[in-house]
Amino acid sequence: EPVLELKGIAKTYNKGKPNAVEVLSGADLSVAAGELVALVAPSGAGKSTLLHIAGLLDVPDSGELRICGRGMTGLSDRRRTAVRRQEVGFVYQFHHLLPEFTALENVVLPQLANGAGRSEAALRAADLLARVGVGNRADHRPAAMSGGEQQRVAFCRALANEPRLLLADEPTGNLDPATSDTVFKTLIELARGTGLSALIATHNMDLAGRMDRVMRLENGRLTVG
Ligand code: ADP
Ligand code: ADP
Repeated sequence: EPVLELKGIAKTYNKGKPNAVEVLSGADLSVAAGELVALVAPSGAGKSTLLHIAGLLDVPDSGELRICGRGMTGLSDRRRTAVRRQEVGFVYQFHHLLPEFTALENVVLPQLANGAGRSEAALRAADLLARVGVGNRADHRPAAMSGGEQQRVAFCRALANEPRLLLADEPTGNLDPATSDTVFKTLIELARGTGLSALIATHNMDLAGRMDRVMRLENGRLTVG
């Protein structure tokens, strides 16, 4: 069964008001287990809205959302939060790492919040950091790392609780082109190595082309890109 399924997802901001903005008008998407899908969209097309709905940070006006086969319509906030914590990892354009904590601690903390033991969490964090090439930065705080290193740590944090689905919103949009390229490749390798499914928004068609499939978001709908 698909890890993520969207059927007829619609979303209008300020619905019924003069300043209403119809962003999604029947978006359909199915992401299989282990599949990496690129999301390409012009600015303002609604890619953040779509990712927030897929990641249970926002609720659609209508349509059906299933995560790992489970319907999300009508779920209580508490259950939605539980599904989000267990099944979904997020990566943003800006890393949002906690500045007062080291790289290792930033990857440990979500695991502790999810009930893991401290030593088990530290081992997993160290393993993830090593896999993306920043094992030697484990004891550094974010401010002491380059943008590319910070974003690699953010990937590790997103995968800390072994989610089935990774959602990324322009994950390398804040990096220079060369760094962006290597950091993006690292993300793809990490996803492939863990059997994760991913929906990754990017403006970069070269990078999108490295994924299994490209979907385009335009006029409120998703089409094969
Ligand atoms: P993208 O990520 O593709 O740039 P967004 O999903 O952020 O697009 O936004 C899509 C459209 O919805 C934009 O026109 C934006 O201004 C509008 N929008 C986004 N969030 C809100 C909001 N909370 N209230 C009203 N309009 C919003
Ligand atoms: P933008 O797309 O405008 O740059 P972000 O992607 O940083 O915004 O955040 C979008 C929304 O996701 C915000 O409402 C924010 O509160 C929420 N958010 C950001 N980071 C997290 C997180 N780690 N966990 C849960 N919600 C988050």
